[in-house]
Amino acid sequence: MDKKMFCFQCEQTAGCTGCTGNAGVCGKNADTAKLQDELTGALIGLARAVDSASAISKRTAQVIIEGLFTTVTNVSFDNAAIENMIQKVRAEKERLVPDCSKCQSPCGKTGEYDMQQMWNADKDIRSLKSLILFGIRGMAAYAYHANVLNYEDDEVNRFFCEALFKIGYEESIETLLPTVLKVGEINLRCMALLDKANTNSYGMPEPTDVTLTIEKGPFIVVTGHDLKDLQLLLEQTEGKGINIYTHGEMLPAHAYPLLKKFPHLKGNFGTAWQNQ
Ligand code: SF4
Repeated sequence: MDKKMFCFQCEQTAGCTGCTGNAGVCGKNADTAKLQDELTGALIGLARAVDSASAISKRTAQVIIEGLFTTVTNVSFDNAAIENMIQKVRAEKERLVPDCSKCQSPCGKTGEYDMQQMWNADKDIRSLKSLILFGIRGMAAYAYHANVLNYEDDEVNRFFCEALFKIGYEESIETLLPTVLKVGEINLRCMALLDKANTNSYGMPEPTDVTLTIEKGPFIVVTGHDLKDLQLLLEQTEGKGINIYTHGEMLPAHAYPLLKKFPHLKGNFGTAWQNQ
């Protein structure tokens, strides 16, 4: 593909086919998209290194989860942060297979993957690999938020490696299709993990009225899915005369008993996320 960038991982993608110019519809620049590809290729290299090791450690799993989460649609447009993440992934691989970087005749078994191979592959193969990749990126967001609350699942962690490995290796519909289906199966397990993490940490969500009225005085607006960050912010602003409002995806936070108990968690700012 002779394009400035290629990204078609969200429903806003240009012409329903792909963002390929200097920037995507969401504002992501071509250099950021290329760094996301480089990070994904490095993650596949790390998964290849894990494949030669006996089991995936908590440390490796956290690097993989953080790296995948970084590449979700518009999670990070910060090139320096993505470059740092790439270095983190490479350092973890170096820790696992230190001899590979010094090898005089590299076999490529733990090499990084060039994402152009995937974008330029036969359309069925590209589609199946994209389903796997975008699926595990979304799943990594769930796993990341569960990890922050000290919840993890070995089977979910192992699957991140298995799926990344297959993206870089398998080339047939017959071998990729079962992995696509397994993404759905493991994702359910991962969603259950996050649900357990959230409900054990903040209580069972209950129906809650949420006002859209903004009161006078200083306030902070919080969006995203980071309930732990919201909890810390609520604790740090308690009694200081600063109100906290949720926005977009953070709206459900009002339903959790251990978050709604803070009286300065006042309401929701704005309407749906696409209007932000
Ligand atoms: S994430 Fe941005 S660049 Fe990628 S398809 Fe969506 S709008 Fe386009």
